Amino acid sequence: MFTAFLIKYAEIGIKGKNRYLFEDALVQQMKYALKKCEGEFSIHKTQGRIFIEAQTEFDFDEVVGKLKTVFGIAGICPVIAVEDEGFDKLKETVVQYIADVYPGCTKTFKVHARRTRKNYPKDSMTINMEMGDAILKAYPEMKVDVHEPQIMFNIEVRERKIYIYSEIIPGPGGMPVGTGGKAMLLLSGGIDSPVAGYMIAKRGVKIDAVYFHAPPYTSERAKQKVVDLARLVSRYTGPIYLHVINFTDIQMYIYEKCPHEELTIIMRRYMMRIAEHIAKENECLGLITGESIGQVASQTMNSLIATNEVCELPVYRPLIGFDKQEIVEVSEKIGTYETSILPYEDCCTIFVAKHPVTKPNVNVIRRHEENLAEKIDELVETALKTDELIIVSE
Ligand code: ATP
Ligand code: MG
Repeated sequence: MFTAFLIKYAEIGIKGKNRYLFEDALVQQMKYALKKCEGEFSIHKTQGRIFIEAQTEFDFDEVVGKLKTVFGIAGICPVIAVEDEGFDKLKETVVQYIADVYPGCTKTFKVHARRTRKNYPKDSMTINMEMGDAILKAYPEMKVDVHEPQIMFNIEVRERKIYIYSEIIPGPGGMPVGTGGKAMLLLSGGIDSPVAGYMIAKRGVKIDAVYFHAPPYTSERAKQKVVDLARLVSRYTGPIYLHVINFTDIQMYIYEKCPHEELTIIMRRYMMRIAEHIAKENECLGLITGESIGQVASQTMNSLIATNEVCELPVYRPLIGFDKQEIVEVSEKIGTYETSILPYEDCCTIFVAKHPVTKPNVNVIRRHEENLAEKIDELVETALKTDELIIVSE
């Protein structure tokens, strides 16, 4: 029945002179998403709106599902587009449309007509009135409410066709990916970091990722799980360049030379340093982590001072004020939860002390890091040199 979609975008509509850049980016992302769907589509921008028109048969659910992954889309309106065969025929079409989409409907409604084709024989007001009457006649249980209608029937008389739509399927919101620069996500196999990446990407930011693995203490399977998570996130962000860094020797060396209760903090500091190095080499403007205040010992505010101070780039922590349950809800919504909870070994937990410090003193941490002076630079260099790049896309 539906052959087109009107795409509503909220925030990007207010970007003034740069608006076309945002619209073009959105169209680009929509094209990318639709490429993976059955069927041919054309996308055009007119008067601050974007229309998708199907050129062939397509699977409605598949297309809507894909559009729901495109940041920048606030709403997706399925449209029926008909030829102009006179107003009586149009009334019939609308009455049939209501029977199909709202069977047994008793809701309040309003008709909202727009004409971009000015030579159409009826003006908008007349279309509103006459179409409203036709609907009331066909469905006496429905009522007009011009102030707060439950259903708004939009009728747009355009150059070539007449468009009818009323449903708005919510989109993901946010800004089109790529309009906000790029950032490096520290991606582990847990619940939090994929959600953190999703949230920053939602603001228009392209995502690269880095994963620290520690073979043989962490398995190939644990690494595959991170690749799988990156793939799930890439449904929203587009392809992700995932850097896999072998962290084993660094971790062992810290284990050998530093107090065990500071191990996690010192390890996290090296992760941040290495992530920042790769970020800068790849034009990333910030780092992203899944940290949330107080979630574990390494995420108290004191611990965050210690992990934060080793980098220059801003560290974005979109989950900082979220409870675990709230994070879980987002991960379920975006489809990463099931993969995140699969059992795996985390390089942070393997050597973890029974009583890690919760209030690390930065000066003490720095002093203990001096124990690493002999070999650490070389180990970091080797880790960077053996960076394995995996390009992950759906
Ligand atoms: P997550 O659920 O994201 O794994 P977590 O609750 O397990 O988070 P930590 O292990 O303390 O928390 O890690 C905090 C953050 O540090 C993670 O959200 C992630 O951004 C980053 N991180 C931790 N371990 C790794 C790793 N092995 N590789 C890359 N980043 C990591
Ligand atoms: Mg973790």
